[in-house]
Amino acid sequence: RAKQIPGSAFALFDPQLDRRASSMLQAEQLLDKAVRAREFQLVYQPKFHCGSRQLSGFEALVRWQRPDGQRISPADFIPAAERTGQILALGELIIDIALQQIRQWHQQGQVLPVAINVSPVQFTHPRFADRLLERLAQSGLPRGLLEIEITESAAMTELDEVLRQLEQLGAAGVPCAMDDFGTGQSSLTMLRKLPIRTLKLDRSMVEPLPRPEAAAIVEATCALGRSLNLEIVAEGVETEEQAAALERLGATHLQGYLLGRPLEPAAATALLQHRGEDRPRQTPAVH
Ligand code: C2E
Ligand code: MG
Ligand code: MG
Ligand code: MG
Repeated sequence: RAKQIPGSAFALFDPQLDRRASSMLQAEQLLDKAVRAREFQLVYQPKFHCGSRQLSGFEALVRWQRPDGQRISPADFIPAAERTGQILALGELIIDIALQQIRQWHQQGQVLPVAINVSPVQFTHPRFADRLLERLAQSGLPRGLLEIEITESAAMTELDEVLRQLEQLGAAGVPCAMDDFGTGQSSLTMLRKLPIRTLKLDRSMVEPLPRPEAAAIVEATCALGRSLNLEIVAEGVETEEQAAALERLGATHLQGYLLGRPLEPAAATALLQHRGEDRPRQTPAVH
C-alpha cells in the first residue's frame, strides 16, 4: 500500500491520504464557521487552597458546542486551530466570553481570579498583550481577576516575543501560570526564562502519588517553586490520597475531579455564591 512508503510518490495517489487532506480542509472550514457563529462556550473548573480547601479561583476551559448538540473537546480542535492560525480568532472569542463572565461575577461582588488558557501561538501576534489589556481596560475590571495559563510547547518558537508580552501582561497585573509542568523537554529552561507566578503540576506527576518516587519528584518541584516564590497548583487530583500527599509535599493549590469538575457557568456561579457552606473539611471561621 502506498501509505506504507512515506515520502514516496505513490503516497500522492493514496486515496486515504487524499481523504485525510480534504477532511482537514473541511475541518478548517467548519472551525471558521464555528468561530463566526460563536459556537464556543467556557466551562469553569474550580481551584482550591491546600489545607483549607477553600475555593481560590477558576480555570476557564473551552468547549465547542455544535448546532447538532455534539460537544467537541479542546484536545480535538485546539492543535488544529494552532496549526492553521485559527487559534488567533478563537482566542479572541474565548477572551471575550471570559471577560463577560468575570464581569458578571464581579458585579455580584465576587473577586476570585479566573485563568484562561492561552496558546503560545497567540503570542506570535505582536499586539496580543496590547489587545488583551485594551479589552481588560474597557471592561472596567480591577486588576487581578484575569490570569493566563500557557503551555510550553513546540509552538513556542519566538521565545523573545512570548517573553516580552508576558512581561507586559505581568506588569499590568495579569499574572501567568506555566501549565502542564513536568511534561515537555525544557521546562526548567522555561521556568528560568519566563516571568511566571504559578507552576501547574501536570496530572502525570500527580497521578502516581503517593508512591515514593513520585512523591520525591513532587516534593523537589514544590521546593524549587517555593524558592522561586511561585504558587504550585496540582492538576488532575482525583483521590484523597493524592490530595493529602500534595498538601504534605508543599503544593499550594489543588485542582481536579476530587474537588471539582469543570462547571457550566450557572453551576460555577452557584459554587461561588455558596462557597464555604456544606464543604467537607471546611476550616471553622476564626474570630
Ligand atoms: P489544561 O489547561 O492542562 O486543562 C486540564 C485538563 O484536564 C482539562 O481538560 C480538564 O477538564 C481536565 N481535568 C481536570 N481535572 C481532571 C482530573 O481530575 N482528571 C482528569 N483525567 N482530567 C482532569 P480539557 O478541558 O479537555 O482541556 C484539555 C486541554 O485543552 C487543556 O489542558 C488546555 O491545554 C487546552 N484548552 C482548554 N481550553 C482552552 C482554551 O480556552 N484555549 C486554549 N488555547 N487551550 C485550551
Ligand atoms: Mg490550563
Ligand atoms: Mg494542564
Ligand atoms: Mg494541557
